[in-house]
Amino acid sequence: MARLSDPITVLRGIGPAKAKLFAALNIYTLEDLICHFPRGYEDRTKLIPICELEPDKPACFRAMVMNTPRTAHIRQGLDLTRVQAADTTGRLTLTFFNSKYAQENLEYGREYIFYGTLTGDYAAYGMTNPVFEAPDSQPVTTRRVLPIYPLTAGLTNAAMLRAVKQALAVCDPPAEILPGLIREKYHILPAQEAYRAIHEPADMQEAEQARRRLIFEEFFVFSAGLSLMRATRAGKRTAPYENRDLSDFYAALPFSLTGAQQRSIGEILADFSRGTPMNRLVQGDVGSGKTMVAAAAAFCAIRNGHQAALMAPTEILAEQHFASLTRLFAPLGITVGLLTGSMTPKEKRQVREKLLGGEIQMAVGTHALISEATQFQSLGLVITDEQHRFGVAQRSRLSAKGEDPHLLVMSATPIPRTLALLMYGDLEVSILDELPPGREKVDTFLVGESYRARINAFIRKQVQAGHQCFVVCPAVEENDALDVKSASVWAETLQQTVFPDLRVSLLHGQMKGAEKEAVMAAFARGEADVLVATTVIEVGVDVPNATLMVIEDADRFGLSQLHQLRGRVGRGGAKSYCILTSHNRNPETLQRLKALCGTNDGFKIAEEDLRLRGPGDFFGSRQSGLPAFRVADLSFDMGLLKQAQQASMEWIESSGTADTPEANALRSRVSALFARSEGTMN
Ligand code: ADP
Ligand code: MG
Repeated sequence: MARLSDPITVLRGIGPAKAKLFAALNIYTLEDLICHFPRGYEDRTKLIPICELEPDKPACFRAMVMNTPRTAHIRQGLDLTRVQAADTTGRLTLTFFNSKYAQENLEYGREYIFYGTLTGDYAAYGMTNPVFEAPDSQPVTTRRVLPIYPLTAGLTNAAMLRAVKQALAVCDPPAEILPGLIREKYHILPAQEAYRAIHEPADMQEAEQARRRLIFEEFFVFSAGLSLMRATRAGKRTAPYENRDLSDFYAALPFSLTGAQQRSIGEILADFSRGTPMNRLVQGDVGSGKTMVAAAAAFCAIRNGHQAALMAPTEILAEQHFASLTRLFAPLGITVGLLTGSMTPKEKRQVREKLLGGEIQMAVGTHALISEATQFQSLGLVITDEQHRFGVAQRSRLSAKGEDPHLLVMSATPIPRTLALLMYGDLEVSILDELPPGREKVDTFLVGESYRARINAFIRKQVQAGHQCFVVCPAVEENDALDVKSASVWAETLQQTVFPDLRVSLLHGQMKGAEKEAVMAAFARGEADVLVATTVIEVGVDVPNATLMVIEDADRFGLSQLHQLRGRVGRGGAKSYCILTSHNRNPETLQRLKALCGTNDGFKIAEEDLRLRGPGDFFGSRQSGLPAFRVADLSFDMGLLKQAQQASMEWIESSGTADTPEANALRSRVSALFARSEGTMN
């Protein structure tokens, strides 16, 4: 017997070269292989008579070969093998391209089981390249439910099937971790059965049960993990902040806070008074003013003699927070410091010394802030901005930096309410459901290529009125495989041929940190009219003078992502617009994009996204900040998710912290799942 942790090269037929292909799918060990689940199935269990075959519907049938197969050499590299096959109900011609296998294995007068798709019409029905097996053979490609796996170039489904089959033969699948009572209550297959059935189901029903079990397990583990984190933190003690007077802070603001901002700050202050570390999520649509809520919290921590750290997912955003917090805090006598990955080692060292010495009270940065080298004198509050880019693991690692600092996470990703509870099970939630006054709806239009001249004229009009425009493209470089606009080429085209008299600049993720910052800062200062960019500008960037967002090939983006992008405009007082272009004519795609034109409410959009695409996309998205769920690609429904969460809460209550082998095994599975989320940080 082999072990789950053994490399896949212990399997026959998998050498170093093959292993590389599997590695492209993140499959290194037998466990990875067994946990590489099919993305779907083809039901080839039913044999039907030839007369019931229908065009375009692949099916299995049993038929006799009625003549000696004839192979014609058509030209260099093209051999055609033709043969007649029949059962008692009908007959058809089978054609094989370059198939030595068919030439050598089909024999006149013998019966085979075929699987293929009928083509042609009643005048000449036929079938091209059906697969076939002898009726007395082991079912491999016919007479079974065939799993269809996620693959990579050079790796066929058949090779994957063989590898998985071998893996299941040489070692036991991962052990059962779901408590028996829970399995019974929720009608969940035992682990061993489920791992076998997901790969080798006897029928579609069994495949479905296996899928259900594995999804249930993964969400159960995740949800239990969040609850454990919450329980652990709730047990910790911290000194309450005695000074909760923010009047100096309020006096320094250039505007008065919205009701929602005040309410959230109130909730945070209540957390600060409690004597346990705060664990709070502030969720608010783009532009709802989350930064001010964070600043108020930081101000309070600092006034109580502690340091606050604000972590942003990109350098651009960190820079921007640094600038605006410096403006706000300097007059209040608070020192703000910046720490990002692209600073020189010397600069970083200097900042780190000041963090350790306590000279910097407000630290702003990227994930450089949580590297081993960074130490604080007294870290009281950790704020992460745009939480969806920070995994659960980073969250816990960061809070390990101080003496159980308060934790505030801010997210603009409107998570459908139904998912929020599951995803943020370890957090209290404050919602900013109000925009600062004077914000107008961003008018959004969906247009095709025929509107190009009008789009260009509109860009020009905005610029002539003293405003600026964003143009977002899905790709950085020209790419033949994807027929989409690339930022580099499009920026060049706009500058050279469309707007030679305007200032067009370019921003994308492959540029160096310092270069990106310079471009963004120049745009924010009004030194460019049109900024052509990839989605690097998606998160949080604030340029109030920008009034137009053009999104090219908008169908390439998810709805929530489009909503984020649109949130880059409409941040000043002026009327703002968003133009989505797409030549996609798929009705579903158009419906999705039109949903965006119809509303500016991020939560409604997220609900619509959830309805149209299912929860898999939320959990599968690299940006979710969630662990890499193995089952995210399998389609599943909200009902199952809720059951898993319900079950995990029952478990936590009854035996979540018990010191039994069962509970320990489950807890170590939780750690493994959370550790996997480290890799998802951008
Ligand atoms: P987000 O929630 O998207 O992070 P920000 O915190 O960046 O939003 O705020 C967006 C803009 O609104 C900023 O320019 C900020 O200064 C401004 N702002 C925040 N709160 C208010 C308010 N109460 N009144 C007016 N403007 C505000
Ligand atoms: Mg923000």
